[in-house]
Amino acid sequence: MDKDKLEYFKQKLQAEYARLEHELRDLGVEDEETGEWDTAAGDIDETATEPDELADRVEDFEERDGERKAFEVQLQNVERALAHFEEGTYGICEIGGEEIEEDRLEVNPSARTCKEHIDKESELPE
Ligand SMILES: [Zn+2]
Repeated sequence: MDKDKLEYFKQKLQAEYARLEHELRDLGVEDEETGEWDTAAGDIDETATEPDELADRVEDFEERDGERKAFEVQLQNVERALAHFEEGTYGICEIGGEEIEEDRLEVNPSARTCKEHIDKESELPE
C-alpha cells in the first residue's frame, strides 16, 4: 500500500478512535486504575421505590451497558489497527500475510484479514 493510502486509513482510524472515546465517555466512567469503562449509574437513585420505575431504570442501565461493551470491542479493534502502523503491518492479513483489499479497509479500516480469510477473523486471538 502506498504512503498516501496508509495515511488516509490512519486518519480514518484516529477519527474513529476519538468518536468511540466520546461515545464511551457519554455512556460510562473510566476506571482510573484499570483503564476500563464502567457504565455510569445515571439517574438511578434511592427515591425510585415503585417496582415499575425501578425495572425501567435497570432496563435502561442494561441497555447502556450493552452499548458500552460493543463500543469497547470496537475501540479495542481500532487500537489494535493503530498499533499495526507502528509495527509496519497495517493492511496485512493476519491469517495469510497477504495485503488486505483496499475496498475492504474502506468499509472497515480495522479489518484484520483479507476477504478470502474473512470467516477466520473471529478465530484470531485478541
Ligand atoms: Zn488472508
